[in-house]
Parts: sequence; C-alpha cells; structure tokens
Amino acid sequence: MILILIVVALVVMAFLAMHRSPLWQWAVAALLIGLASRFGVGTVPFAADGPGLVEVLLPGVVLALLSVRQIRLPLVTAPIYRFVKSILPRVSRTEQEALDAGTVGWDAELFSGKPRWDKLLKVKQAVLTPEEQAFLDGPTNVVCSMIDDWDIRHNRIDMPPAVWAYLKEHGFLGMLIGKEYGGLGFSAQAQSQIVARIASRSIAAGITVMVPNSLGPGELLEKYGTLPQQEKYLRRLARGQEIPCFALTGPHAGSDAAGMRDVGVVTYGMHGGKKTLGVRLSWDKRYITLAPVATLLGLAFHLHDPDNLLGKGENIGITLALVPAKHKGVVIGRRHFPARSAFMNGPTSGKNVFIPLDFLIGGPDHAGQGWRMLMECLATGRAISLPAIGSISIKQSLRVTSAYARIRRQFGIYVGMMEGVAEPIARMVKSAYAFEAARGLTAAMVDEGQKPSVLSAVLKYQSTEVMRARINDAMDVHGGRAIQDGPSNYLFSGYINTPVAITVEGANILTRTLITFAQGALRAHPYLYKEIEAAQATDRKAGLVAFDKAFGGHTAFMLRNMVGSFLHALSSGLFASTPVEHELTWGYRQLARYTQSFALCADWTVVFLGGELKSRQRLSGRLADILSELYLMSATLKRYEDDGRLAADRPVVEAVLADCIFRIEGEFAAIFANFPNRLLGGIMRFLVFPLGRHKRPASDASNNNLVREVLKPGAFRDRMTVGTYVSVDANDPTGVLEDALIKVTEAEAIEAKFIRAVKKGIVERRLDRDAIEDAVEAGVITSGEATTLRVADEATDRVIRVDDFSSEELERIESQREPRRAAE
Ligand SMILES: Cc1cc2nc3c(=O)[nH]c(=O)nc-3n(C[C@H](O)[C@H](O)[C@H](O)COP(=O)(O)OP(=O)(O)OC[C@H]3O[C@@H](n4cnc5c(N)ncnc54)[C@H](O)[C@@H]3O)c2cc1C
Repeated sequence: MILILIVVALVVMAFLAMHRSPLWQWAVAALLIGLASRFGVGTVPFAADGPGLVEVLLPGVVLALLSVRQIRLPLVTAPIYRFVKSILPRVSRTEQEALDAGTVGWDAELFSGKPRWDKLLKVKQAVLTPEEQAFLDGPTNVVCSMIDDWDIRHNRIDMPPAVWAYLKEHGFLGMLIGKEYGGLGFSAQAQSQIVARIASRSIAAGITVMVPNSLGPGELLEKYGTLPQQEKYLRRLARGQEIPCFALTGPHAGSDAAGMRDVGVVTYGMHGGKKTLGVRLSWDKRYITLAPVATLLGLAFHLHDPDNLLGKGENIGITLALVPAKHKGVVIGRRHFPARSAFMNGPTSGKNVFIPLDFLIGGPDHAGQGWRMLMECLATGRAISLPAIGSISIKQSLRVTSAYARIRRQFGIYVGMMEGVAEPIARMVKSAYAFEAARGLTAAMVDEGQKPSVLSAVLKYQSTEVMRARINDAMDVHGGRAIQDGPSNYLFSGYINTPVAITVEGANILTRTLITFAQGALRAHPYLYKEIEAAQATDRKAGLVAFDKAFGGHTAFMLRNMVGSFLHALSSGLFASTPVEHELTWGYRQLARYTQSFALCADWTVVFLGGELKSRQRLSGRLADILSELYLMSATLKRYEDDGRLAADRPVVEAVLADCIFRIEGEFAAIFANFPNRLLGGIMRFLVFPLGRHKRPASDASNNNLVREVLKPGAFRDRMTVGTYVSVDANDPTGVLEDALIKVTEAEAIEAKFIRAVKKGIVERRLDRDAIEDAVEAGVITSGEATTLRVADEATDRVIRVDDFSSEELERIESQREPRRAAE
C-alpha cells in the first residue's frame, strides 16, 4: 500500500507540475496525501508506530501558508529579492538598448518549453505580389544575365557601368523605400528573393544591392528621418541618384562597435555662411561597403555637449548623422580589397568637420538614440539580407553540383553515383531545403511586422556557416574543376567570398557565442526579464510584488520543465503535443519534446551562471546551436505544410528532422559533460536522457535516395534549388551545365547499351566519339541514338573544360592587384 501511495503521490505531483498549478493546489494535494498516508486504506489508524498527524500534514500546511501572499512576501520572496538585487550585473545603456531592440515571437515559444503551434503555423506564407513577381522574373533576371562575375572580378574590379546604370534605373537600390518617395516599396520576402537571385550570379553584385537595402541611410531615414530629410534624400536614394553607405566600424571598434572612438561635440560653427548650431565631428572608419563610391555617408559617433546646448546633458550618447560625401572635410579613403572581390569597400575619415544639427538623423530629438536605432534596424535587416545570401549560396552550390556530379564520369560511372560523393550532395539537399524554409519563414515574420532580433541572429550565423560548409562540399565534388579559376569557374568566387558574409553584421563567433543565447534568454524566457525588471525597479514595494509574481511563475515553469522533460524522454515524445495528425506528426512531437528539454537547460543555465553567462561562451554557443536546430526543425515542418505536404519532399523533410534531432542530442550531451556544476549537469542529464541517447541521423539509404532524385533534371531538383538564377544560355558558365545535364540524361539509356557493348568487347574503348561510330557499325545503337550520344558527349566536354591563360594574360590579371600591393 505504501508503494501505491508513493506512486499516487508522484502522479499527482507530476500532474500539478505539468499544469503549472498554483501553490494552493499543491497545498491541497499535500494535505490529502498526508491524510491518506495517516488514515488511508491498509494503514492502522492512530497506530503507535505510524507517522504522527503533525508530520504528515506539515508539508501541506507550509504550502498552504506560503500560498497566502501576505505571508509569503516577507518570509520567502523578500530575502530572495534582496539576494537577486545584489548579484544582478549592471547592464550598460548600450547593452540594454541591444536587448530591448526587436520583438520576440516563435523564439519565445521555443524558450517556453511548450510551444503554441498556432504561433508558427499561422505565420502567413509570404507570396510575392504580381508586381514583385514580375520584377523578379523581369529586371532581376535581366540584370543576372548582364552579370559576368569573372569579368567583374578580374577585368574591372567593379561592376560594369551598364550594370550600375540598370540597377539604378530600375530601383534596385531603393527596394525598401516607399512608393510615395519613388521607391519600390517591396516586402521583405521580395527583397530577400531579389538579393538572393543576384547573389546566385555574383556575390559582389549581391552585396552591392544588399547594402543600400539593408542597415543604412535608406532604412534609417524611412524609420527615423525628419520630414525634410525624407523629402530631401529618399527620392534620390530610390532612383540611385545618391549612393549611400553606413559607417559604424573603426580600427579600434569592430565587434565592440559601441566602443568607437569617433566623437562629435555640440558647438556653434559656420554653415552656408551663417553661424549655426551643430556638431564638430571627428571620425576614422574602415571596412565601409560602398564608401569609395558613396555620395551620402551615414556616420555613428559619440555625441558630447559640454555646454548643454541641446539640454540633454553632457554625454548624449551614440548619435547618427547623414553627411554628403562632398561636404567640406569628409575624406573618402582608398579602396580595401575584400576577399579579392569587386564590391566597393573602403575607409573614411574626417577631423573637426562641422555639420549642422539637421544632418543628425531624426534631428536633435534623436541625438543619443543612435544605438537603439541601429539595433532595431539590425533586427529586421539581418533577418533578410544575409540569410538570403546564405541560403542562395547553399542552393546554388546544389544546383551546379547536382548537374556536375551527374555529368562527370570516372571509373565508367557518373561520380554522383559513388557513395563517397553522394554523402556531401545529400548534405546539400538537406541544407537547401531547411535553409530555404528558414529564410522564407523569417522574411514572412518581418512582413507581418515582427523584428525578430533573436531568430535573425540565429539565421545569420547558421545560414552563413552552413553556406561555408556546403560551398566546401561543392568544391570537393568538383575536384580540380572548381580550383582552376577562370571565366568558366562558377564556384570559386563564392568560395573566396564566404568569410565576408560570416564577418559582417555581427561576426559569427560573437553572434553565436555571446549574442544569440544571452539575448534570447533575456528576451524570450517567459520570466527572467520580468524578474530582472522587478529587481531593478526603483519603487521597492512595487518591485517586490512584481518579483513575487514572476518568481512564482518561474518556479512553476521550472517544475514543469523537469517533469515534462523526464516524461517525454521516457516515452520518447510519444505524448508530446502536435498540431497535426499526418505522416509527420512524429516530427512535431519530437520538436515539442526537445523544446521542453531546451527550456529546462536554458533556464538552469541562466539561473546558475547569472552574469557569468557572458564568459561561458562554449556553453551559450551550444545552447544557441540547440535553439538553431529547433528553429530549423520548425521552419522545415512549416515549409512542408505551406508547400501542400508534397509526398516527393517527405523524405528530405524526414532526413532534415532526423539530422537536427541527432545534432541536438549531441549538443545536450556536450552541455551536460561540461556544465560547471557537475551535480546540476548530472541531474539535467538524468532528466533529459534517463534512458540514454538513442537518436540516429538520416540513414545512408535515405541519403542516397535524396541524391538519386536530385541528380535528375526535374521538379524535385528545381524545388530544392528554388530562387537560383538558371541560365538558358549554353555558352554561360552555369548554362552549359543545365544544357549538358539534359543532354546527358536523354542519352542515359543509349549510353548504358554502349557501355555494355564496351564491357563485352563488342566495341573497343578508344576516344569515345570514334567508338560511337564503331557501336553503330556493330549494330549496338542506331545512328539516331549515336547522334544523341555524341551531342551528350560534346556537352560533357564543355562542362569539364577548364580555363588556361597565357603568361601575359596572367600578368595583366595580377596587375589588377595593384591597390592591395600599394596598401601593403
Ligand atoms: C567586407 C566587409 C564589409 C563590411 N561592411 C561594413 C559596413 O558597410 N559598415 C560598417 O560599419 N562595418 C562594415 N564591416 C565591418 C564588420 O561589421 C566588422 O568587420 C565586424 O563587426 C567584426 O569586426 P572586426 O572585423 O574588427 O573583428 P573583431 O572585432 O576584431 O573580432 C575578431 C574575432 O573575435 C570575435 N569576437 C569579438 N568579440 C567577441 C566577444 N565578446 N565574444 C566572442 N567573440 C568575440 C569576433 O566574432 C571575431 O571572430 C564590414 C566588414 C567587412 C569585412
């Protein structure tokens, strides 16, 4: 009977924990269990050796008393409140502004441990308007066809004037500027797809279009500019009459951009022949994209006002200004040569340059709010541009590699058939599906008005890291073909440019290990931020009451995570929540299961580490990775729904989910093994993996199936590489691949006959094209089939050809490196 009672007590506790029941319900349950243990069936009432009445009722009575706020506040909450107040690290103003920037949405559901599925499934699948679609199919494709990346990189070190003119004329530089100012006023989804398609042709061209449409003068003016500033600049920016750049980074302030040394002092000076109140500004910035050709310079600096002329005190804070490049004193430096790439990038400086107050973005009212303005723009900008470049590079790698691996033969078979080669191609297929899903979902969130600061950080670092890995895979599959640079090499440019996307808009190491999890924990955790706010409240009484409420919720949250994690692990997520009942229900259940475990570990980590979180970056990096995998799973499941649950895509979805789960388990294991407190690490391991780790990644067989499908021209390959620019010009470096893939596929059955004849010795393998004639003569194939085979063979020749150069040509190419030599 005691055993039954213990089981009943555990079940009741689990039930209460799972439902995050209030304290009084725990008290009632404890009293009933206490009474049952004293007078219940099988016990002898008032037996001399039984537990005393006081003992069995004590827990219930204590809980009952604690459920009365007037008793709990002074006895329990107040001491904890004092303790938390004493250990809370001081959050600087810039840190606070970064934390406050943006909104939380699906990330909060992942931190909650119990996602409300409608928050994911109700995000409307963004569909381009007819106008946006026409722009993508029209001017975007035209500009793609005009771009010759080799020519840009090696003959010009800039885009050809015709491409610049086309971009300006058709409004590519003003996609985010509203129609009322002559901009295109396109959605985030459209901007993302347009930038991506151009980047699939040339990273340099993609970055050139990305910058004016990302964090920079256009967006800052749209959101914060004064009316006269908007009137003055937006129309000109939209038409490409002004080329903007934004200068934040300096030699001493890279990742720690807020630590910049650039200063402005509020003072009187001469402007337009008149004594004017303004700012005397000195700056030294570097790495600034488009600076060498910019006509309008966005600048960030610390503003001081020693005479309090603006009435905002002496240290006003980070402030943003728009300064025409031709303004007196502005120095646009020589060019940097980023990744030997053609896009414009360089330094700028100025010493004691006087600017009037109306150069400040948003006017004097916005002085000191620069960091918040930047962080808010970053939350949306980072959700659009770099994920577009990351995901398109993955898809483009797959597009060209799937063709090449089908065309290129060694040992008598095409290389994609070999398991060793199929392995990286399978990785490409899975990444292409998952990152297109995440790109589309995040852009759709932005179009719904969200500014997803945490998820955009996740997507920025993940998509660019995976881009690097998949481009490396593509290089490996191509072998020497991808290493020999030249006009027909379609991979090398992307390969050398990967560090650019990895470094800009928050370098990846910092974004992964410092920003993503810490910001997520503070913003998306259901109680932490409320507790911190309460602890920092100046009104102590109100703070204590708010803290009591948040702390109570937090305790219930912790209990639920513990019980939920444990039970889900025991049942392998069989009873976890799901919004659907179909073939992928298991995927939702697994997502719910690991979300619960993530909530548990994330919570314990922030509570245990507190302010130390900033320096425990291996731990926070792994938690950021788990959050990323959960997000990729979410996006993948959502894409499957949005695409109408295509049966042909189910294997790739299942493989993506299996891999994500496998990686999640690995990250958890590493966290438990390295948790600074071994006891807590052990308890977490027990709650998350009571039966050990059992998940496996996608099997070899399912990976091979994916590769078989993608090596054929057709709907599956097109869907996996959706959004890439597909050239139909058989003389274009990538068009040649598309052309050959079709011809080689058409010749497949004929080729099989031919190879059989070679193996049987009916036809002697010489130079293949001569052998084709022999095969006709021997009656192995018809003359019509011989033509098909010959056409395929000629197309194959064009694909495998690499470039060669005379010494003079190479010397001329090398002479383009002059700017860099001079800088050295
Ligand atoms: C091609 C290119 C274009 C650019 N365009 C612009 C532009 O238009 N405008 C502009 O203002 N800036 C621009 N930048 C600057 C870019 O934003 C910075 O390069 C970036 O912020 C990193 O600064 P850094 O290069 O000085 O690296 P550092 O700050 O020196 O960092 C070095 C390494 O340390 C890591 N790190 C630093 N601090 C931490 C930390 N606390 N925790 C963990 N890791 C950390 C970083 O992740 C990085 O890996 C551009 C840069 C490049 C390369």
